[in-house]
Amino acid sequence: MYQAKRRTGLVFFPAFDWAINPTHPEREERLLYTQDQVFEEGIFDIEGIEEFKPDLVTVKDVQRVHFCVPDVWGVTTESHFISAGGAKTIGMAVMDKRVERGFALVRPPGHHAMRVVHGARGFCNINIEAIMIEYLRKAYGIRKVAIVDTDCHHGDGTQDIYWHDPDTLFISLHQDGRTLYPGSGFTNEIGGPTASGYTLNYPLPPNTSDEGFLYAIEQVVLPVLKEFEPELIVNSAGQDNHFSDPITNMNFTAQGYARLTELLQADIAVLEGGYSIEGALPYLNVGIILAMAGLDYSKVTEPNYNPMALRQKPEIMTWIQRIGDQVLTNWKNRNQLSEMARGDKRFEERSRTLFYDTDSLVEDQKETLRICPDCPGAWKIETECQKTQRALAIHVPVHACSDCRNLAMDWFEQGARQDFDAVFLQDRPQDRFVVKRRGAA
Ligand SMILES: [Zn+2]
Ligand SMILES: [Zn+2]
Repeated sequence: MYQAKRRTGLVFFPAFDWAINPTHPEREERLLYTQDQVFEEGIFDIEGIEEFKPDLVTVKDVQRVHFCVPDVWGVTTESHFISAGGAKTIGMAVMDKRVERGFALVRPPGHHAMRVVHGARGFCNINIEAIMIEYLRKAYGIRKVAIVDTDCHHGDGTQDIYWHDPDTLFISLHQDGRTLYPGSGFTNEIGGPTASGYTLNYPLPPNTSDEGFLYAIEQVVLPVLKEFEPELIVNSAGQDNHFSDPITNMNFTAQGYARLTELLQADIAVLEGGYSIEGALPYLNVGIILAMAGLDYSKVTEPNYNPMALRQKPEIMTWIQRIGDQVLTNWKNRNQLSEMARGDKRFEERSRTLFYDTDSLVEDQKETLRICPDCPGAWKIETECQKTQRALAIHVPVHACSDCRNLAMDWFEQGARQDFDAVFLQDRPQDRFVVKRRGAA
């Protein structure tokens, strides 16, 4: 019997009852075709490949990551709890050593969901990888985690969540933001002053092929991962770089995705985007599963696969190499960049406006970070979404020093009920989430 070289766990959750609308590209068929292909190819007959049923995440799991306004139930459905739950199940299966690798094939996706959530951005309401990671940190005591986001769109939500966290290395490879949603993810986005260099962005030019992607992984991502020495590698596995994807402009193939998976050796992969529902996703996902399990994927080919037609122009490769050098420079200079960003400031403030394209909402934020010499620093965000909900969100990092924790407690005490609809405290050292609401006693 065919046997996996590495025990591999899978979770499928197509979310039959959830879609933005019936013809939206992010719909249940994305996973139904993959599921058919997995059965047809006999993947579950391979010894060492095991299917798990998704657990549900809890409200507490979501609150470890997000500030949902007005509350968790107001911005999620049951499907979001199961999708994040599928990721959590795979995370636990890997940590408990029931499998060596795992792939959560779930939807709705999550990597555009930021720290504060008023609604959906880029089809995402809650960040399923971050919810899984923070659960695993709590339950298994792990600290250093690397997330490599290979979705075609910039993982701006995951970047936002880990912007001030030097224990989480976030690397996003994506189609250049000048040519694709969400329009961010440039090489100068490197994380906040207490975590500079732990966010790395690698924007790739449109029409990048296997050659360019694999160059980026081998020459840039792998050396950085080796130096960071994470306890866990998570791949935000978006399949929308495929040449047939209807909403992007890249030339990646099933063979390329499988090779990327083999090189990256992520412990956990979580499905993000991918909208070529019939022509690509079933083949890409099967290729990825085989590569994770250490099996031969050389026969996996999608319809219309023609490597000659997808050959990359030499100037694209030159471009990719130049960007790669910048990314490596950011990584190597992270300590100096952090010092420069800190200067002699005690606090850093930033104001920004965020657009929730899926729900057509506009949010204004004002963030204040304590620049701390001893920890990543406590921070607070005043957030307002089109005058309907005004909230104060206060965060104490997991490894906060006592000064930062005391400051955060003061902010929480002083955040008056009459000024905000809600005042939230995300107290990670105590693993608790406290809310004061307007009008409540
Ligand atoms: Zn995407
Ligand atoms: Zn501190």
